[in-house]
Amino acid sequence: MCTTKWKSELNRNARQMSMTDLPIAMHCHHYNINLHKTLEDTLGQEGIDLIFSSAEEAIYSNLQSHLSRYPKARSIKSRLEMAQILYQDSGMGIIYFEKTGDDQWRIVSPSSHHVTGWLAKHGRRNTPGCHFARGWIAGVLAVLFEQLPGYYRVEEIECKMMRHEKCIFQATPR
Ligand SMILES: [Zn+2]
Repeated sequence: MCTTKWKSELNRNARQMSMTDLPIAMHCHHYNINLHKTLEDTLGQEGIDLIFSSAEEAIYSNLQSHLSRYPKARSIKSRLEMAQILYQDSGMGIIYFEKTGDDQWRIVSPSSHHVTGWLAKHGRRNTPGCHFARGWIAGVLAVLFEQLPGYYRVEEIECKMMRHEKCIFQATPR
């Protein structure tokens, strides 16, 4: 199993932080959930799509850069582990991928920054709300299978924001 060398990957230069040489911004749940709710409330589906595509594009470049530094992680299994560790170590939560068929994936998240933040600020939702996680999943799969962003459709079947036990996603090529 490959492990991330966080001492060298996560750097601070005065007020600037970088991960794998890419600048990053760190925000608490107040900022992230307010941004999420504002985009949903003001733009509707367009706002949801914006959260999805932003997360997809961000992890797409971040994971490509990250994996290029770990050439020994060549198998899909190792690369998925690296992505899952990156998600967890970035404070986004716990997530794991299960292959269910030819390029068909079931992704489970029993714990998530966005879920905890949403429930703390707004309580139970009536619709799935993990748009960031859906985009992140799409970006990870696009990197691993050498596709461009936009290749994967990711649906959230169950969501802890709706008080389901776990967030469960399905990913398939569009
Ligand atoms: Zn969810």
